[in-house]
Amino acid sequence: MAGEKILVVEDNEANMLLATSALQADGYVPLKAKTAEEGISIAKHEQPSLILMDISLPGMDGLTATGILRNDPSTCTIPIVALTAHAMKGDEEKALAAGCAGYMSKPIRIRAFSETVARFVCTQAEVHTR
Ligand code: MN
Repeated sequence: MAGEKILVVEDNEANMLLATSALQADGYVPLKAKTAEEGISIAKHEQPSLILMDISLPGMDGLTATGILRNDPSTCTIPIVALTAHAMKGDEEKALAAGCAGYMSKPIRIRAFSETVARFVCTQAEVHTR
């Protein structure tokens, strides 16, 4: 599979570059947002196959943004995977409670990142063909 749009919401430039490079290398089309507000807007307009959501963002945080996307009929079926900082204990539980389908801890490791993205894009494709 290739060509799926994947939205990355991430304020850290190094992480954004790493994530989008890995997505491009795997044949996806990365969409970038540096804030939760921008991410919500892009998600509504572009309808990505998957959203990778940083939790710690300037202004609105990623968990609040996830709640808004989950409660919006136009975005409620798009899976969201949280990007959590390794040091933040309890972030994973909070991410799942907020409606994230899964989480990845940072720093990003390319192989695990690619596998997780592929798994969620696949799952979503299966849901759509049913
Ligand atoms: Mn951040």
